[in-house]
Amino acid sequence: AAKSQGRGNFQFFSASMNAATHERLLLENRLWLALEQGEFELYLQPQVALDDLRIIGAEALLRWHHPELGLVGPDRFIPIAEESGLILPLGDWVLQQAVELLAGWRARGLGRLRLAVNLSARQCHGAGPLAQLDRLLAGAGIDPALLELEITESAAMQDPERSRLLLRELRARGIKVAIDDFGTGYSSLSYLKLFELDRIKIDRSFVKDIESDPNDAVIVEATIALAHSLGLAVVAEGVETAAQRDFLRAKGCEEAQGYLFARPMPALAFEALLQPLAKRA
Ligand code: C2E
Ligand code: MG
Ligand code: MG
Ligand code: MG
Repeated sequence: AAKSQGRGNFQFFSASMNAATHERLLLENRLWLALEQGEFELYLQPQVALDDLRIIGAEALLRWHHPELGLVGPDRFIPIAEESGLILPLGDWVLQQAVELLAGWRARGLGRLRLAVNLSARQCHGAGPLAQLDRLLAGAGIDPALLELEITESAAMQDPERSRLLLRELRARGIKVAIDDFGTGYSSLSYLKLFELDRIKIDRSFVKDIESDPNDAVIVEATIALAHSLGLAVVAEGVETAAQRDFLRAKGCEEAQGYLFARPMPALAFEALLQPLAKRA
């Protein structure tokens, strides 16, 4: 029995491996074509001010409409795009879309909304996205301060000196810079010393157990205080409950995003949320 069970386990294991490999091949094979075919879309997740819950902007989150797999999230394809190099043209496309969205909101009087865009590790190497941004911003007539670039600590620390220069160049252009997933890396404090920043995004893993884990509550409270002492703003990620929202507000966190407020959604749906604002203005 043991032998046949072992054998069964082995078959199950290899079958699941094959499924994972199969999916990876489906993603990999189509990745380059996908950009040409217009299969990517930027979803937007609202960011709100915690004092009055008004929408102050959004984070752009990439989605892929894969013809066989349906809607695919970035955790499944960004690593492949990084390895294959597609992340560079894809990242340029994301920036272009983001600037177009900002220009559209401005043209339609939707208010001074900020749009945050994620940068991957590869985009922080070399000259980075500076040339692309200069080209985009020159034509768009938007305030660069409405564009915020999010960079994770682990991406920036792959080449700290280059990242430091990149962030400085971005800020020299008036573009805002945020550290994403703050606290999940190994060097958060040295990062604060090394880089010029505007905002810290407290990672969802700390927010999740704020109510039940006293350590997480203390870490979040201390992070907010530390950020403010350094003159940085704070946004909390992954807020799912009213209790988390109330805790964050009580500790002085000024902004948040999470399923409690809204999930990531197509740009049209996000803009529909803003219509009442535009009418009031
Ligand atoms: P991130 O930048 O930390 O984005 C936050 C992630 O948390 C998003 O996942 C979002 O959908 C999810 N999220 C937001 N609120 C909640 C919540 O209340 N509960 C839970 N459980 N999750 C929440 P998503 O969209 O799957 O993106 C995953 C990661 O992929 C992002 O993490 C970011 O690192 C990366 N990514 C997304 N778009 C891009 C892009 O355009 N370029 C690059 N390089 N990376 C991207
Ligand atoms: Mg992000
Ligand atoms: Mg994050
Ligand atoms: Mg993340």
